[in-house]
Amino acid sequence: MIYIESMTFNAFQENSFVVYNDEKEAIIFDPGCSNVTEQSLLSSFIERTKLKVVRLVNTHCHIDHVLGNKYVAEKYNVHLEAHPNEKSVLETGVMISKMYNISYDQSPEIHSYIDEGDTFTLGQESFEVLLCPGHSPGSLCFFHADSKTLIGGDVLFQNSIGRTDLPGGDHNTLISVIKEKLFKLPDDTKVYCGHGPSTNIGFEKKTNPYLS
Ligand SMILES: [Zn+2]
Repeated sequence: MIYIESMTFNAFQENSFVVYNDEKEAIIFDPGCSNVTEQSLLSSFIERTKLKVVRLVNTHCHIDHVLGNKYVAEKYNVHLEAHPNEKSVLETGVMISKMYNISYDQSPEIHSYIDEGDTFTLGQESFEVLLCPGHSPGSLCFFHADSKTLIGGDVLFQNSIGRTDLPGGDHNTLISVIKEKLFKLPDDTKVYCGHGPSTNIGFEKKTNPYLS
């Protein structure tokens, strides 16, 4: 079984997720913690729940999803994992942080790459990896079939979709990837989004104005 804790961090109201199993092993997806207060919120949850952090994963490497990478990598001694297409996105982080005038502890580089079709596990739990470009060129979604749960990053939101005006974004690609990959998942799949509330696939098929 998996359990999911969501925390909303930084000026962009980004959702960071701690996904853990019965053995108390945890993956931290997209740590966006951007200051000491947010870092300690994340760490106190880890400590209180007695978790062992075993993986650090970015669904994609936009600045709001990587602000806590360095903190998590050093505190828990884990290496960053992401899709190879996000290498160049991550490299723009310092420049983007200056543009937005936000402080940024520069993320470590991607240590190991994840791609569609890879076996992605947390202990006994396995996730299907879906490459879903359009918002960012290497956006990954992680589908846990046993619980019908999707860690979706910024691909699909409740009644919205990821923005496509950033470098490497493409509107038509995003629309077709959602229809061809995410909408093939069971309707009762719960989607944990990188911003805003969670949703489910069936609800988005019916109501999402970008996908009708
Ligand atoms: Zn993004």
